Amino acid sequence: MTVTLDVTTPNELSLEALWMPFTANRAFKKAPRLLVEAKGMYYTSADGRQILDSTAGLWCVNAGHCREPIVAAIQRAAATLDYAPAFSMGHPTSFELASRLADMLPGDLDHVFFANSGSEAVDTALKIALAYHISRGQPGRARFIGRVRGYHGVGFGGISVGGIENNRKAFAAQLLPLVDHLPATHDLARNAFSRGQPTAGKELADSLETLVQKHGADTIAAVIVEPVAGSAGVLVPPVGYLERLRELCTKHGILLIFDEVITGFGRLGASFGTEYFGVQPDLMTVAKGITNGAVPMGAVFVRRGIYESVLSAVEAGIEFFHGYTYSGHPLAAAAGLATLDVYREEGLFARAAELAPYWEAAVHSLRGSPNVIDVRNLGLVGAVELASRDAKVGARGADVMAECFANENLLIRVTGDIIAMSPPLIVEREQIDQIVERLGRALRRVS
Ligand code: PLP
Repeated sequence: MTVTLDVTTPNELSLEALWMPFTANRAFKKAPRLLVEAKGMYYTSADGRQILDSTAGLWCVNAGHCREPIVAAIQRAAATLDYAPAFSMGHPTSFELASRLADMLPGDLDHVFFANSGSEAVDTALKIALAYHISRGQPGRARFIGRVRGYHGVGFGGISVGGIENNRKAFAAQLLPLVDHLPATHDLARNAFSRGQPTAGKELADSLETLVQKHGADTIAAVIVEPVAGSAGVLVPPVGYLERLRELCTKHGILLIFDEVITGFGRLGASFGTEYFGVQPDLMTVAKGITNGAVPMGAVFVRRGIYESVLSAVEAGIEFFHGYTYSGHPLAAAAGLATLDVYREEGLFARAAELAPYWEAAVHSLRGSPNVIDVRNLGLVGAVELASRDAKVGARGADVMAECFANENLLIRVTGDIIAMSPPLIVEREQIDQIVERLGRALRRVS
């Protein structure tokens, strides 16, 4: 299939060669949705429409699109130091970014390992957990505990600890062997239409105690959860749940990993989920908002004691046999520093907190729209769950997304029949109203 691009170029564009990720390729290529420019809260589509971005791209453009200071920093970096080897060599920007990030983090969570994506950050964190236990003479602690409906990217580590069946089943023959899962926290029967954290379900964390009894604490390296599960459809943790998980991990010497690829960098109205919930993990993964989505980057934040233990277990030489050609890449590091400046100078995390009640009221106004069986929210994240059509999970959600894009100039994200929204933190109240009005109209048109 070819399409004519009438904004950037009159040339025909062939869609054939590209195998698109997490996309129904055949359906997309019959009805393509192409974005050619972005600014602030809007994308420009190939047919010249202004599309209101209710998803910050893919949960990453927290400061809004094409922000000048970030663009300028990337341009400067590209012209000054395009690349520096990441192994046994350094460049100042990556050290500076690591220090700035460490200053933002609570307690002794003050060492940073750079990767290039959330998936890489997750695999790195899992390896650090194993290396830590080995460094303390406990190599038997090798098991990971994830959670049903968790999403931790697409590496073999990430899909093993992740709990989204579609992402695992084709690769089941080669998943990590020592993995178990906590139950999902989402419970529509008890918690539908919760505003903020649902009240029921704290006891679901006690399943960790059951897994400890089953496998033995001395076989478990780490528990990994998203503080708020994002990709599976915005599953907000019940009140007290994360606190309980922390308690049990501490009791049993199990590392707690928070995957904050989505909840990091202001999404909940605090710098990170750890700050929002007041629960400190031992390791934390981030990506996306770290560079405002402008250059790929991921990172793992590590407690000092873990870093020191791994280093001191080795007499000399390389202490941790892991890293990426592009760990701390100069363009990503420059984008990261400029992004942190924008977040701070514009007070965007506090802005998200201030807007959160308005956002909550707006998304919950969709209760009562056709097929809506739940609405939920936290910070500047919201989800509207639709009843699935008989035996066709995801069909209604896909139609709503297509309808929003084609006829409402609105970008939303869908997981199955759950619509997820997470606008850039620069969103205005008026734009929140528009998001909800446009989605509401689309819901009324899609049967
Ligand atoms: N972890 C979480 C919680 C995520 O939401 C994502 C992506 O959405 C990832 C990991 C994977 O990130 P990436 O797509 O950058 O590999």
